[in-house]
Amino acid sequence: HLSKRLQQVADYIVQYSPKPRRLLDIGSDHAYLLTYLGLAGHIDYGLAGEVVPGPFHSAQQEVAKQGLNSLIDVRLGDGFEVLTLEDKINAVSICGMGGALIAKILERGYQGLRPNHYLFLQANVGQATLRRWLDRHQYEILAEAIIEEAGHIYEVMVAHDNPNYQVGSLSEEAINFGPYLRQEASPVFKRYWQGQAQKTAYIIDSMKQGVSQNQTRIAQLEAHLALIEKEL
Ligand code: SAM
Repeated sequence: HLSKRLQQVADYIVQYSPKPRRLLDIGSDHAYLLTYLGLAGHIDYGLAGEVVPGPFHSAQQEVAKQGLNSLIDVRLGDGFEVLTLEDKINAVSICGMGGALIAKILERGYQGLRPNHYLFLQANVGQATLRRWLDRHQYEILAEAIIEEAGHIYEVMVAHDNPNYQVGSLSEEAINFGPYLRQEASPVFKRYWQGQAQKTAYIIDSMKQGVSQNQTRIAQLEAHLALIEKEL
């Protein structure tokens, strides 16, 4: 069975991406997401991409063990490098990485995707960087979830390429906190941002007590803290 985090990604894939569903999972590691979806009959084709040989072999082993070799291909490569047009991929998941890395992977390869596709993204940190990238590249965010599992807080988002999307539609607050998450303002959301406010205040204090003070960085952090406090 899947972790709560990957279950949320799987649920969104089933809910948002139309059939026939042809999913590329970049950085699939053990390919748990793809094998779960394959066994449940939720995908028509799966492609696992891994850039590191160890996880690539784990993915191959897991797919074989579950008897899914005819449904799921596993390829070694960096990001979208593993993709060919014949794969007819119309959904992409990228999970368990930082938002900046996810944005970098998208930047290098999103143009190789067919129009009308869906992205399922789970960034561990740097969600704002990722949302900014999506907004600048005409991706509309369709849904967001914030969940807590084993003391960690995770965000999952769904995005769709929309040629009618107005770049810059997201406010600075929406980019930082998530357009839906901030509206919903769930207890987990509040707990997460209270924690971030405390951390930021602590860093500002320590920096102010330091010998060589980086005034620019302190000012940035103070602006960030003010933004969080306004949101809470
Ligand atoms: N997606 C799985 C999950 O969420 O449980 C695994 C997450 S694991 C922390 C991140 C994986 O992404 C690693 O196995 C790493 O090798 C892979 N990865 C990192 N950068 C990548 C890239 N540019 N292309 C493909 N895979 C990448």
